[in-house]
Amino acid sequence: MADNYHLSIINSKNIMELKPIKLAGVEDKRPLVIAGPCSAETEEQVMETATQLAKKGVKIFRAGIWKPRTKPGGFEGVGVEGLGWMQRVKQETGMYVTTEVATAKHVEEALKADMDLLWIGARTSANPFAMQELADALQGVDIPVLVKNPVNPDLELWIGGMERLNNAGITRLGAIHRGFSTYEKKIYRNLPQWHIPLELRRRYPDLPILCDPSHIGGKRELIAPLCQQAMDLNFDGLIVESHCSPDKAWSDASQQVTPDSLEYILEMLVIRAETHSTEDLGQLRKQIDLCDDNIIQELAKRMRVAREIGTFKKENGVTVFQNTRYNEILEKRAAQGEQCEMSGEFMKKIFEAIHEESVRQQMEIINK
Ligand code: PEP
Ligand code: MN
Repeated sequence: MADNYHLSIINSKNIMELKPIKLAGVEDKRPLVIAGPCSAETEEQVMETATQLAKKGVKIFRAGIWKPRTKPGGFEGVGVEGLGWMQRVKQETGMYVTTEVATAKHVEEALKADMDLLWIGARTSANPFAMQELADALQGVDIPVLVKNPVNPDLELWIGGMERLNNAGITRLGAIHRGFSTYEKKIYRNLPQWHIPLELRRRYPDLPILCDPSHIGGKRELIAPLCQQAMDLNFDGLIVESHCSPDKAWSDASQQVTPDSLEYILEMLVIRAETHSTEDLGQLRKQIDLCDDNIIQELAKRMRVAREIGTFKKENGVTVFQNTRYNEILEKRAAQGEQCEMSGEFMKKIFEAIHEESVRQQMEIINK
Protein backbone atom coordinates (compact mmCIF):
# COMPACT_ATOMS: atom_id res chain seq x y z
CA MET A 1 0.00 0.00 0.00
CA ALA A 2 2.68 2.43 1.05
CA ASP A 3 4.67 1.60 -2.09
CA ASN A 4 1.68 2.25 -4.31
CA TYR A 5 1.12 5.53 -2.55
CA HIS A 6 4.72 6.61 -3.09
CA LEU A 7 4.69 5.44 -6.70
CA SER A 8 1.54 7.39 -7.35
CA ILE A 9 3.25 10.50 -5.97
CA ILE A 10 6.42 9.91 -7.99
CA ASN A 11 4.42 9.30 -11.16
CA SER A 12 1.71 11.86 -10.53
CA LYS A 13 1.32 14.01 -13.61
CA ASN A 14 0.82 17.70 -13.85
CA ILE A 15 -2.93 17.97 -13.70
CA MET A 16 -3.12 21.76 -13.60
CA GLU A 17 -3.57 23.73 -16.78
CA LEU A 18 -0.90 26.39 -16.54
CA LYS A 19 -0.02 29.38 -18.71
CA PRO A 20 3.01 31.64 -18.31
CA ILE A 21 2.55 34.86 -16.34
CA LYS A 22 3.50 37.15 -19.20
CA LEU A 23 3.41 40.87 -18.46
CA ALA A 24 3.96 43.34 -21.27
CA GLY A 25 7.22 45.22 -20.79
CA VAL A 26 8.57 42.77 -18.21
CA GLU A 27 11.54 40.88 -19.60
CA ASP A 28 11.17 37.13 -19.62
CA LYS A 29 14.37 36.41 -17.74
CA ARG A 30 15.39 35.28 -14.30
CA PRO A 31 14.81 36.63 -11.75
CA LEU A 32 11.36 38.11 -12.09
CA VAL A 33 11.46 40.74 -9.34
CA ILE A 34 8.57 41.95 -7.22
CA ALA A 35 9.44 44.50 -4.56
CA GLY A 36 7.76 46.90 -2.20
CA PRO A 37 6.96 47.39 1.45
CA CYS A 38 5.48 44.78 3.72
CA SER A 39 2.54 47.17 4.27
CA ALA A 40 1.17 50.26 2.62
CA GLU A 41 1.32 52.73 5.54
CA THR A 42 0.79 56.23 4.19
CA GLU A 43 0.38 57.68 0.72
CA GLU A 44 3.82 59.35 1.05
CA GLN A 45 5.58 56.14 2.08
CA VAL A 46 3.97 54.20 -0.77
CA MET A 47 4.76 56.86 -3.39
CA GLU A 48 8.32 57.46 -2.16
CA THR A 49 9.16 53.73 -2.06
CA ALA A 50 7.52 53.08 -5.43
CA THR A 51 9.26 56.00 -7.14
CA GLN A 52 12.67 54.84 -5.87
CA LEU A 53 12.03 51.22 -6.88
CA ALA A 54 10.83 52.21 -10.34
CA LYS A 55 14.11 54.14 -10.83
CA LYS A 56 16.00 50.94 -9.99
CA GLY A 57 14.18 49.11 -12.77
CA VAL A 58 11.68 47.21 -10.62
CA LYS A 59 8.57 46.49 -12.69
CA ILE A 60 6.18 44.98 -10.17
CA PHE A 61 5.30 46.74 -6.91
CA ARG A 62 3.98 44.92 -3.87
CA ALA A 63 2.33 46.32 -0.72
CA GLY A 64 0.08 44.70 1.87
CA ILE A 65 -3.25 46.51 2.22
CA TRP A 66 -4.83 44.00 4.62
CA LYS A 67 -2.30 42.55 7.04
CA PRO A 68 -2.78 39.21 8.77
CA ARG A 69 -1.32 39.80 12.25
CA THR A 70 -0.53 37.11 14.77
CA LYS A 71 -1.99 39.09 17.67
CA PRO A 72 -4.74 41.68 17.87
CA GLY A 73 -3.59 45.23 18.38
CA GLY A 74 -0.90 45.20 15.68
CA PHE A 75 -1.13 47.25 12.51
CA GLU A 76 -3.75 45.46 10.44
CA GLY A 77 -3.27 47.42 7.25
CA VAL A 78 -4.80 50.62 5.93
CA GLY A 79 -7.52 48.81 4.00
CA VAL A 80 -9.34 50.04 0.91
CA GLU A 81 -7.89 53.56 1.13
CA GLY A 82 -4.46 52.11 0.26
CA LEU A 83 -5.76 50.67 -2.98
CA GLY A 84 -6.10 54.24 -4.24
CA TRP A 85 -2.38 54.80 -3.50
CA MET A 86 -1.56 51.63 -5.45
CA GLN A 87 -3.51 53.00 -8.40
CA ARG A 88 -1.42 56.18 -8.18
CA VAL A 89 1.74 54.05 -8.25
CA LYS A 90 0.46 52.38 -11.38
CA GLN A 91 -0.35 55.65 -13.12
CA GLU A 92 2.73 57.60 -12.09
CA THR A 93 5.46 54.95 -12.31
CA GLY A 94 4.04 52.52 -14.86
CA MET A 95 4.77 49.61 -12.53
CA TYR A 96 2.40 46.68 -12.18
CA VAL A 97 0.86 46.44 -8.71
CA THR A 98 0.02 43.52 -6.46
CA THR A 99 -1.44 42.99 -3.02
CA GLU A 100 -2.45 40.17 -0.69
CA VAL A 101 -6.04 38.92 -0.67
CA ALA A 102 -7.44 36.68 2.04
CA THR A 103 -11.23 36.92 1.64
CA ALA A 104 -13.80 37.19 -1.17
CA LYS A 105 -14.32 40.83 -0.14
CA HIS A 106 -10.60 41.56 -0.61
CA VAL A 107 -10.76 40.01 -4.08
CA GLU A 108 -13.73 42.15 -4.99
CA GLU A 109 -12.02 45.36 -3.78
CA ALA A 110 -8.66 44.50 -5.36
CA LEU A 111 -10.23 43.76 -8.74
CA LYS A 112 -12.29 46.95 -8.56
CA ALA A 113 -9.05 48.86 -7.94
CA ASP A 114 -7.40 47.25 -10.97
CA MET A 115 -4.65 45.28 -9.25
CA ASP A 116 -2.53 43.49 -11.88
CA LEU A 117 -1.62 40.44 -9.82
CA LEU A 118 -2.84 39.02 -6.52
CA TRP A 119 -1.01 37.02 -3.92
CA ILE A 120 -2.38 34.75 -1.24
CA GLY A 121 -0.59 34.66 2.10
CA ALA A 122 0.79 31.74 4.07
CA ARG A 123 -1.92 31.78 6.73
CA THR A 124 -4.62 31.72 4.07
CA SER A 125 -3.10 28.98 1.90
CA ALA A 126 -3.08 26.74 5.00
CA ASN A 127 -6.89 26.90 5.10
CA PRO A 128 -8.84 24.99 2.43
CA PHE A 129 -12.10 26.83 3.26
CA ALA A 130 -10.42 30.17 2.66
CA MET A 131 -8.77 28.91 -0.54
CA GLN A 132 -12.11 27.70 -1.84
CA GLU A 133 -13.72 31.03 -0.98
CA LEU A 134 -11.00 32.84 -2.94
CA ALA A 135 -11.29 30.40 -5.85
CA ASP A 136 -15.06 31.02 -5.99
CA ALA A 137 -14.52 34.78 -5.91
CA LEU A 138 -12.01 34.48 -8.77
CA GLN A 139 -14.15 32.20 -10.94
CA GLY A 140 -13.86 33.38 -14.55
CA VAL A 141 -11.38 36.20 -13.76
CA ASP A 142 -8.17 36.24 -15.81
CA ILE A 143 -5.54 37.51 -13.40
CA PRO A 144 -2.19 36.06 -12.30
CA VAL A 145 -2.31 34.71 -8.75
CA LEU A 146 0.72 33.86 -6.64
CA VAL A 147 0.20 31.40 -3.81
CA LYS A 148 2.53 31.40 -0.84
CA ASN A 149 3.30 28.10 0.81
CA PRO A 150 1.18 27.31 3.87
CA VAL A 151 2.87 28.14 7.19
CA ASN A 152 3.23 24.41 7.86
CA PRO A 153 5.48 22.29 5.63
CA ASP A 154 2.68 20.51 3.77
CA LEU A 155 3.27 20.31 0.02
CA GLU A 156 -0.08 18.63 -0.68
CA LEU A 157 -1.92 21.48 1.05
CA TRP A 158 0.01 24.02 -1.00
CA ILE A 159 -0.76 22.18 -4.24
CA GLY A 160 -4.38 21.63 -3.18
CA GLY A 161 -4.89 25.37 -2.77
CA MET A 162 -3.46 26.03 -6.22
CA GLU A 163 -5.63 23.28 -7.70
CA ARG A 164 -8.73 24.97 -6.28
CA LEU A 165 -7.76 28.20 -8.08
CA ASN A 166 -6.91 26.30 -11.24
CA ASN A 167 -10.28 24.54 -11.18
CA ALA A 168 -11.86 28.00 -11.01
CA GLY A 169 -10.07 28.93 -14.25
CA ILE A 170 -6.94 30.67 -12.91
CA THR A 171 -4.19 29.42 -15.24
CA ARG A 172 -1.58 32.13 -14.71
CA LEU A 173 -0.50 30.71 -11.38
CA GLY A 174 2.76 31.06 -9.51
CA ALA A 175 4.06 29.75 -6.20
CA ILE A 176 5.94 31.74 -3.57
CA HIS A 177 8.29 29.93 -1.22
CA ARG A 178 8.38 31.90 2.05
CA GLY A 179 9.65 29.23 4.43
CA PHE A 180 7.89 27.26 7.15
CA SER A 181 7.05 28.16 10.74
CA THR A 182 8.83 26.55 13.65
CA TYR A 183 8.26 26.83 17.38
CA GLU A 184 11.87 27.62 18.11
CA LYS A 185 13.23 30.47 16.05
CA LYS A 186 16.77 29.76 14.91
CA ILE A 187 18.71 31.75 12.30
CA TYR A 188 15.73 31.89 9.99
CA ARG A 189 12.34 33.36 10.81
CA ASN A 190 10.83 30.59 8.69
CA LEU A 191 12.84 27.49 7.79
CA PRO A 192 13.59 27.27 4.06
CA GLN A 193 13.28 23.45 3.72
CA TRP A 194 14.29 23.88 0.08
CA HIS A 195 13.41 20.27 -0.79
CA ILE A 196 9.71 21.18 -0.57
CA PRO A 197 9.67 23.82 -3.36
CA LEU A 198 12.08 21.64 -5.33
CA GLU A 199 9.62 18.74 -5.17
CA LEU A 200 6.91 21.18 -6.32
CA ARG A 201 9.16 22.07 -9.28
CA ARG A 202 9.68 18.38 -10.09
CA ARG A 203 5.94 17.78 -10.16
CA TYR A 204 4.92 21.00 -11.93
CA PRO A 205 7.85 22.03 -14.12
CA ASP A 206 5.76 24.77 -15.77
CA LEU A 207 4.72 26.46 -12.53
CA PRO A 208 6.85 29.55 -11.85
CA ILE A 209 8.31 29.56 -8.34
CA LEU A 210 9.42 32.75 -6.61
CA CYS A 211 11.38 32.97 -3.39
CA ASP A 212 10.48 35.39 -0.61
CA PRO A 213 13.82 35.83 1.20
CA SER A 214 12.35 38.51 3.48
CA HIS A 215 9.93 36.18 5.26
CA ILE A 216 12.34 33.25 5.23
CA GLY A 217 15.22 35.25 6.70
CA GLY A 218 13.42 37.77 8.88
CA LYS A 219 16.65 39.83 8.89
CA ARG A 220 18.19 42.17 6.32
CA GLU A 221 21.58 40.41 6.32
CA LEU A 222 20.01 37.19 5.13
CA ILE A 223 18.30 38.65 2.05
CA ALA A 224 21.34 38.56 -0.26
CA PRO A 225 22.48 34.98 0.51
CA LEU A 226 18.91 33.70 0.30
CA CYS A 227 18.39 35.39 -3.08
CA GLN A 228 21.59 33.76 -4.34
CA GLN A 229 20.54 30.36 -3.02
CA ALA A 230 17.16 30.69 -4.73
CA MET A 231 18.84 31.58 -8.02
CA ASP A 232 21.27 28.66 -7.72
CA LEU A 233 18.26 26.37 -7.19
CA ASN A 234 16.77 27.75 -10.39
CA PHE A 235 13.86 29.69 -8.90
CA ASP A 236 12.13 31.93 -11.40
CA GLY A 237 11.78 35.04 -9.31
CA LEU A 238 12.13 36.94 -6.05
CA ILE A 239 9.62 38.89 -4.00
CA VAL A 240 11.50 41.15 -1.64
CA GLU A 241 10.24 43.60 0.98
CA SER A 242 11.64 47.05 0.37
CA HIS A 243 10.78 50.27 2.21
CA CYS A 244 12.04 53.85 1.82
CA SER A 245 12.79 53.96 5.61
CA PRO A 246 12.95 50.32 6.72
CA ASP A 247 13.68 51.08 10.39
CA LYS A 248 10.49 53.07 10.63
CA ALA A 249 8.29 50.41 8.98
CA TRP A 250 5.01 49.66 10.76
CA SER A 251 5.40 45.91 10.14
CA ASP A 252 8.38 43.59 9.53
CA ALA A 253 10.92 46.42 10.00
CA SER A 254 13.94 44.14 10.55
CA GLN A 255 13.58 42.35 7.24
CA GLN A 256 12.99 45.27 4.87
CA VAL A 257 15.74 46.82 2.77
CA THR A 258 15.99 50.22 1.09
CA PRO A 259 15.55 50.36 -2.69
CA ASP A 260 19.29 51.19 -2.85
CA SER A 261 20.24 48.01 -0.98
CA LEU A 262 17.86 46.00 -3.10
CA GLU A 263 19.52 47.27 -6.25
CA TYR A 264 22.93 46.30 -4.87
CA ILE A 265 21.69 42.84 -3.85
CA LEU A 266 20.25 42.23 -7.31
CA GLU A 267 23.37 43.49 -9.06
CA MET A 268 25.58 41.15 -7.04
CA LEU A 269 23.54 38.06 -7.91
CA VAL A 270 25.26 35.44 -10.01
CA ILE A 271 22.70 34.04 -12.41
CA ARG A 272 23.75 30.69 -13.79
CA ALA A 273 22.25 29.41 -17.00
CA GLU A 274 20.12 26.33 -16.81
CA THR A 275 19.71 24.43 -20.09
CA HIS A 276 23.17 24.87 -21.52
CA SER A 277 24.94 24.05 -18.30
CA THR A 278 22.81 20.96 -17.66
CA GLU A 279 23.83 19.60 -21.08
CA ASP A 280 27.46 20.21 -20.15
CA LEU A 281 26.76 18.76 -16.75
CA GLY A 282 25.34 15.62 -18.40
CA GLN A 283 28.62 15.15 -20.32
CA LEU A 284 30.69 15.72 -17.21
CA ARG A 285 28.56 13.31 -15.22
CA LYS A 286 29.13 10.63 -17.84
CA GLN A 287 32.87 11.09 -17.32
CA ILE A 288 32.42 10.77 -13.57
CA ASP A 289 30.41 7.56 -14.04
CA LEU A 290 33.22 6.17 -16.20
CA CYS A 291 35.82 7.04 -13.56
CA ASP A 292 33.70 5.38 -10.86
CA ASP A 293 33.41 2.22 -13.01
CA ASN A 294 37.18 2.15 -13.36
CA ILE A 295 37.73 2.71 -9.64
CA ILE A 296 35.49 -0.27 -8.81
CA GLN A 297 37.15 -2.52 -11.41
CA GLU A 298 40.60 -1.64 -10.05
CA LEU A 299 39.48 -2.17 -6.47
CA ALA A 300 38.09 -5.60 -7.39
CA LYS A 301 41.45 -6.47 -9.02
CA ARG A 302 43.29 -5.30 -5.91
CA MET A 303 41.05 -7.47 -3.67
CA ARG A 304 41.72 -10.55 -5.85
CA VAL A 305 45.47 -10.05 -5.31
CA ALA A 306 44.85 -9.46 -1.59
CA ARG A 307 43.03 -12.80 -1.40
CA GLU A 308 46.00 -14.54 -3.08
CA ILE A 309 48.26 -12.99 -0.47
CA GLY A 310 45.79 -14.28 2.13
CA THR A 311 46.23 -17.83 0.84
CA PHE A 312 50.01 -17.42 0.89
CA LYS A 313 49.90 -16.14 4.48
CA LYS A 314 47.75 -19.08 5.53
CA GLU A 315 50.07 -21.64 3.89
CA ASN A 316 53.18 -20.07 5.38
CA GLY A 317 51.80 -19.34 8.84
CA VAL A 318 52.19 -15.55 8.54
CA THR A 319 49.91 -13.10 10.38
CA VAL A 320 47.32 -11.28 8.30
CA PHE A 321 48.06 -7.84 9.70
CA GLN A 322 51.54 -6.50 8.95
CA ASN A 323 52.03 -3.18 10.67
CA THR A 324 55.10 -1.97 8.76
CA ARG A 325 53.49 -2.67 5.42
CA TYR A 326 50.28 -0.90 6.51
CA ASN A 327 52.16 2.26 7.54
CA GLU A 328 54.18 2.15 4.37
CA ILE A 329 51.00 2.10 2.24
CA LEU A 330 49.35 4.96 4.12
CA GLU A 331 52.39 7.23 4.04
CA LYS A 332 53.33 6.55 0.46
CA ARG A 333 49.80 7.03 -0.89
CA ALA A 334 49.10 10.16 1.20
CA ALA A 335 52.21 11.78 -0.28
CA GLN A 336 51.32 10.65 -3.78
CA GLY A 337 47.74 11.96 -3.38
CA GLU A 338 49.08 15.38 -2.41
CA GLN A 339 51.14 15.49 -5.57
CA CYS A 340 47.90 14.86 -7.47
CA GLU A 341 45.93 17.74 -5.88
CA MET A 342 44.16 15.69 -3.23
CA SER A 343 44.59 16.08 0.52
CA GLY A 344 46.80 13.59 2.33
CA GLU A 345 44.05 13.16 4.91
CA PHE A 346 41.59 12.12 2.20
CA MET A 347 44.06 9.61 0.72
CA LYS A 348 44.72 8.18 4.17
CA LYS A 349 41.00 7.66 4.74
CA ILE A 350 40.59 5.93 1.39
CA PHE A 351 43.55 3.58 1.95
CA GLU A 352 42.50 2.84 5.51
CA ALA A 353 39.12 1.73 4.15
CA ILE A 354 40.70 -0.32 1.36
CA HIS A 355 43.13 -1.94 3.76
CA GLU A 356 40.33 -2.74 6.18
CA GLU A 357 38.45 -4.59 3.46
CA SER A 358 41.62 -6.48 2.42
CA VAL A 359 42.20 -7.56 6.02
CA ARG A 360 38.55 -8.67 6.34
CA GLN A 361 38.83 -10.78 3.20
CA GLN A 362 42.16 -12.33 4.27
CA MET A 363 40.75 -13.18 7.71
CA GLU A 364 37.96 -15.11 6.00
CA ILE A 365 40.56 -17.13 4.07
CA ILE A 366 42.69 -17.82 7.16
CA ASN A 367 39.64 -19.00 9.13
CA LYS A 368 38.26 -21.28 6.44
C1 PEP B 1 3.70 39.45 3.39
O1 PEP B 1 4.12 39.12 2.28
O2 PEP B 1 3.79 40.60 3.84
C2 PEP B 1 3.13 38.41 4.27
C3 PEP B 1 2.21 38.68 5.18
O3 PEP B 1 3.70 37.23 4.05
P1 PEP B 1 3.37 35.74 4.58
O4 PEP B 1 1.96 35.43 4.17
O5 PEP B 1 4.39 34.95 3.82
O6 PEP B 1 3.60 35.71 6.05
MN1 MN C 1 5.79 41.18 5.67
